Amino acid sequence: MHDVLIIGAGPAGLSAARWCDELGLDTLVLEQNQEIGGQLLWVHNPIENYLGVRAANGRELRDRFVEQTKDCDFDLWTNVEIESVDLKAKRVVLRSGEQLQSIAIIIATGLRRRKLGIPGEDEFISRGMIESSGDREAFAGKDVCVIGGGNAAAENALLFAEVCPTVTLVHRGEKLRARREFVEQLHGNHCITVFKESVVHRIIGNDRVEAVEIERAGAIKPFQMAVQGVIVRIGFEPNTELFRDQLKTDERGYVTINSRQETSVENVFAVGDVANPLAPTISGAVGAGATAAKVIAARLRR
Ligand SMILES: Cc1cc2nc3c(=O)[nH]c(=O)nc-3n(C[C@H](O)[C@H](O)[C@H](O)COP(=O)(O)OP(=O)(O)OC[C@H]3O[C@@H](n4cnc5c(N)ncnc54)[C@H](O)[C@@H]3O)c2cc1C
Repeated sequence: MHDVLIIGAGPAGLSAARWCDELGLDTLVLEQNQEIGGQLLWVHNPIENYLGVRAANGRELRDRFVEQTKDCDFDLWTNVEIESVDLKAKRVVLRSGEQLQSIAIIIATGLRRRKLGIPGEDEFISRGMIESSGDREAFAGKDVCVIGGGNAAAENALLFAEVCPTVTLVHRGEKLRARREFVEQLHGNHCITVFKESVVHRIIGNDRVEAVEIERAGAIKPFQMAVQGVIVRIGFEPNTELFRDQLKTDERGYVTINSRQETSVENVFAVGDVANPLAPTISGAVGAGATAAKVIAARLRR
């Protein structure tokens, strides 16, 4: 029996764990990945807006978070596969069969990248589907297709255009949603072609990605374009499948909370991006983790 079970070890979960430890709560953190840090592991640009720390990238900031939790007494299990969660009973069952019980649960499961759900997308993982702009050098000299129309898609198109002969940005809408300066840079870059009102139907290849099938508005039929890399940046969605039918969420699955980070289930809290559809930030996640821990400690009179 633990005081608190924290699900997810990104900035929100780690902050909650740090505070729970400081407040004398017996805490276990469960992380599905081998490495902790959440989205920080995907951030390759410098982080300038987390007050008090300037970091060259997400990993550097994540390493500082880890360093600052090293001496804490909370338990942290990585590579954990959760089979089911009973929020009312505060019981978590792992795929290994182990059952965990607590007084409070903090949901800190963050976001994942949205998928297109088209043929080839999963098949070519690590074989031409590009996970991160950190893999850019492996695609130097190759033709790449970026799917999406927001900031992340535009930023990736610009980054890959520095090393690739052609980058085709495929966007289903009439207008790009990216920041104006990104859009201006896209249009001024001779390596980048933008297909608006266009949809990628499938990713084609044998051993690796060889082409994408694109349908453009007004065209008679879809056509195939040869590329060796595909990067999908069509937004994020919350990791809430495990509990979505047990608590209140918005229509997109983000957990609904009050100002104390409480969900609609007693003694179940949600912190960070999973409960913050409007302004997801590292600062917000870290602050929310602290709030949840303090509310729990006050309730348990610690
Ligand atoms: C490219 C990029 C750049 C960014 N730049 C900035 C920036 O400059 N400044 C800024 O403030 N923010 C930035 N952000 C956003 C910031 O990274 C997030 O707001 C922050 O990481 C949210 O922290 P979190 O802990 O709520 O969620 P996450 O970081 O998403 O962490 C959630 C954790 O929960 C784990 N998890 C999920 N489901 C389960 C499960 N079932 N069982 C166990 N574990 C689970 C995940 O594996 C993950 O480790 C950026 C994000 C990206 C992608």
